[in-house]
Amino acid sequence: MGKRILLHVCCGPCSTSSVERLLSEGYEPVLFFSDSNIFPESEFLKRYENLLIVARRHGLEVILDDYDHEAWREAVKGHEEDREHGERCSLCFRFNLLRTAAKARELGIDEFTTTLTVSRFKSSAVIFGVAEDLEGFQRIDFKKKDGFNRSVQLSREYGLYRQDYCGCEFSLRDRR
Ligand code: SF4
Repeated sequence: MGKRILLHVCCGPCSTSSVERLLSEGYEPVLFFSDSNIFPESEFLKRYENLLIVARRHGLEVILDDYDHEAWREAVKGHEEDREHGERCSLCFRFNLLRTAAKARELGIDEFTTTLTVSRFKSSAVIFGVAEDLEGFQRIDFKKKDGFNRSVQLSREYGLYRQDYCGCEFSLRDRR
């Protein structure tokens, strides 16, 4: 078995190529679905169920975090009107990665990282900056090695649901 790493997962599609890459690099990923930013809760559960499809294919453990949208709203307070990719998104990344760091400590897993970097709509540099002071964070850029295109290809192959908004109610509003 490889070295355990806690992988924060934002959704099933983004997990596909990230998991494939970690396995190919000798890691044993434990998947952590911690995404209280997602709205509404039914969407949170839908994305979680799609992650389970990916996890089953690889026989990987999945941990479901509590859905605490109120705490997330508090964390991004004052930034409700920010445009996507602005300060609200950095606070959002930070919120989820702090929870992931805490879960890694609780489980005694030394390293953690996130699937957030696979998206071509998110800056890996910003995500790395947000997490740089968190012990154990691994700067793995899942966009590299054609990660985004591979995630699209695998999502189609697995028949996964691919959402058309980032996750929170503000991104849903802006999409509309
Ligand atoms: S747009 Fe996406 S990254 Fe930004 S705050 Fe909303 S859910 Fe988080």
